Amino acid sequence: MLQEQTASRHANPNNGVQHADVAVVGAGFAGLYLLYRLRKAGFTAIGLEAADDVGGTWYWNRYPGARCDIQTIDYAYTFDPELDKAWTWSEKYATQPEILRYLGFVADRHDLRRDIRFGTNVINGRWNEGTGRWLLRTSDGPSVSCRHYIMATGCLSSPKPPEIVGAGSFSGPVLTTGRWPHDGVDLAGKRVAVIGTGSSAIQLIPIVAEQAAELVVFQRTPNFAMPARNGAPSPDRLAQVRSDPAAYRAQARQSLTGVPLPMQSVVSWQFTDAERRERFEKMWDEGDLVGMLTQLWADQGVDVDGNAIVADLFREKIRSVVRDPETAETLTPRDHPFGAKRPCLDTNYYATFNRPNVALVDLRKEPIASISATAIHTATRKFDVDVIVFATGFDAMTGAVLALNPVEGRGGRTLAGLWAEGPKTYLGLMAAGFPNFFMITGPGSPSVLSNMVVSIEQHVDWVVDRLIDMRAAGFTTIEPTETAMAGWERHLADCAQVTLHRLANTWYTGANVLGKPQGVMPYTGGVGLYRGICDEAVQRGLLGFRLTGPNVPEQCNDGEIVRLQPDVRAVLGLLAQMNLPAIESLGAAGARAFVEQFNAGRPFGRPVGEVVDGVYDGAGGPLRYRLYRPESEGPHPVVVYYHGGGWVLGDEGSDDPFCRDLCRRSDMIIISVDYRHAPEHRFPTAAEDGLAAARWVATNAASLGGRGARSWSLAGAPAATSRPSRASSRAIAAVRRSAASCSSAP
Ligand code: FAD
Ligand code: NAP
Repeated sequence: MLQEQTASRHANPNNGVQHADVAVVGAGFAGLYLLYRLRKAGFTAIGLEAADDVGGTWYWNRYPGARCDIQTIDYAYTFDPELDKAWTWSEKYATQPEILRYLGFVADRHDLRRDIRFGTNVINGRWNEGTGRWLLRTSDGPSVSCRHYIMATGCLSSPKPPEIVGAGSFSGPVLTTGRWPHDGVDLAGKRVAVIGTGSSAIQLIPIVAEQAAELVVFQRTPNFAMPARNGAPSPDRLAQVRSDPAAYRAQARQSLTGVPLPMQSVVSWQFTDAERRERFEKMWDEGDLVGMLTQLWADQGVDVDGNAIVADLFREKIRSVVRDPETAETLTPRDHPFGAKRPCLDTNYYATFNRPNVALVDLRKEPIASISATAIHTATRKFDVDVIVFATGFDAMTGAVLALNPVEGRGGRTLAGLWAEGPKTYLGLMAAGFPNFFMITGPGSPSVLSNMVVSIEQHVDWVVDRLIDMRAAGFTTIEPTETAMAGWERHLADCAQVTLHRLANTWYTGANVLGKPQGVMPYTGGVGLYRGICDEAVQRGLLGFRLTGPNVPEQCNDGEIVRLQPDVRAVLGLLAQMNLPAIESLGAAGARAFVEQFNAGRPFGRPVGEVVDGVYDGAGGPLRYRLYRPESEGPHPVVVYYHGGGWVLGDEGSDDPFCRDLCRRSDMIIISVDYRHAPEHRFPTAAEDGLAAARWVATNAASLGGRGARSWSLAGAPAATSRPSRASSRAIAAVRRSAASCSSAP
């Protein structure tokens, strides 16, 4: 039978230790849902929260203008369907006070506060091998002994300290957006400095500009911002969520970002300029940030050129609003792709710089040298101010976890040690060496790249479901293996290569904190995919986890959850969904017809300078080639390209999108050559044709627009080049020898 007990009943005043099955650190969206689920599941749980009340982010960030940037219909709990009926959001993007009221409402509705110790900072946590429990030391009150220890401490809860010389010597009020005073601040008639131009600053600046006598904004990196166009919640979305709430929420859970929007499949170059502009303007007018990030075209987040089109349209908007061209240029982001750094939603941000009482200082040109009692000094100027606002952000994703000193796992291993070169986790949920230690939206999970409430609910459900399963099976510890953790690290890095996040210095990569290890910290593969992987780990017998218990044999199903490259995995996944016949069952003719039909349905490749079809001298007579020439002025290096198809399928045009991409990115001429196929033409016919193609290109390179006989190379799809049989290896070696004799490939 499920027991409902309050944690306080387990306090032991004699030895100053409070006992519970589970300790939950943090009482924001994550902590509250954890306490709800744990209690329902019959675990005793203690919440430990540094703040005086629930709310987390929405308790601390009380600066003027603070709102969510995911529409509130979506940025809300879904675990309690009655909540949608019991709570009505007043705005499309709710304000901080409204979201805080909502979290208080949820806490009251489920009587969650009774399990939380407020005003209590957890200082460290140590695993005791003998008892199989964690001991958490707190700033106040008894320590906590728990079997399971869950960090719901937030990704953006540890504000960065001011890193500027003399910040402590300023005599006026120094405010931080992430720790804003509860009773507000009167800025009327004051000279105010705001340092930073991230999401917090961009929300705050227009309001401060209206209140203050003078406002000086100190900008290090300009950001992309678009108007929120706040107002009543979107009628379309309301209608959708009301007509079929379950379907609406299910779509969000399987989506890329945790917001129920479809994946786009049409790429930028399939639209005309006018169509692209129209799509952009629609999102701009709707004030939908997630829509702008994901709904324009399929390549906007993964391809620099597809992205540059969006970025240019943003830049145009900035120029159209900001009257002074120099100020407009200073506000224009040029050092990162759109979306690689968190873009912002604003209300009148750019127009604020047209006001006579607002000045912008470009810290790239004149960095802050110091702060004195009354002023901010750059190398060339002194700005006398009455109030300084630090809108300088957070030690994101790892800051709050590593603030505990130490988190000590098995054998004295510390989390700070394990993460010295960047966070290492399995699924963003756990780390090897730290049994029963969980993180909600930890590094390595989609977290901050998603609607976080959806990600929080998924993590909480996964963790609590595991605790329930463990209890039923008699296990008392769970811990990921080193192999699983290393595999996840590789998968994260592979995914990070696909998106453009790696091209920006941001808090996603740790670049905003001096000395912090650099690397994309959140999982960039998307919410739906990630959820599938977490579920797969369970379905495959808790793959990657070791479980132990006093009266049961150890269970360790070691291994890596994802072994394929993300793009290969995506393609294989799509193919699996299509339920296609096995290609080897079709016969050569059937397989060729199938591939032809399949290729006809794929997106058209990117435009290149020129595409020329021609004929070359194959080993047994003329064969076709297709030449892709870059847009830039030649001559270019030349690549002879052998299409894939296992020596049976394909022709000079069957890898068309890939060849176009290769041509564009390498700025080389790509000549895709046909060769004769098995089974009609048995080995080594294809290899002989390939050799003939190489010779033909070497001889004709200059007339084809190449740099000459000594500037060409070979490339091919994996089936043709990377896993050759012994016979084909000999043929390839012959081509290579021939190539070496007539070229010095670049
Ligand atoms: P938090 O809300 O950060 O709560 C963590 C709690 O843990 C805090 O209350 C903190 O005091 C406590 N804590 C930390 N360390 C300790 C310790 N050692 N001992 C005791 N207590 C501790 N996300 C979105 O998806 N959409 C948005 O629109 C959005 N807007 C945002 C706006 C702002 C201004 C900020 C800063 C973030 C925003 N986010 C948004 C991200 C936001 O942080 C998450 O959406 C969400 O609120 C996180 O909830 P959480 O419970 O995981 O963490
Ligand atoms: P942020 O995005 O990290 O912005 C901090 C700003 O301060 C940046 O412009 C940064 O410049 C600048 N800065 C940092 N250190 C500095 C220094 N020493 N000197 C000068 N400038 C410095 O932080 P944030 O604005 O608090 O937002 C953090 C995240 O919280 C957001 O990305 C978002 O996910 C969430 N958030 C959301 C909303 C919302 O609209 N819902 C609102 C606020 C926050 P660099 O860029 O050069 O580092």
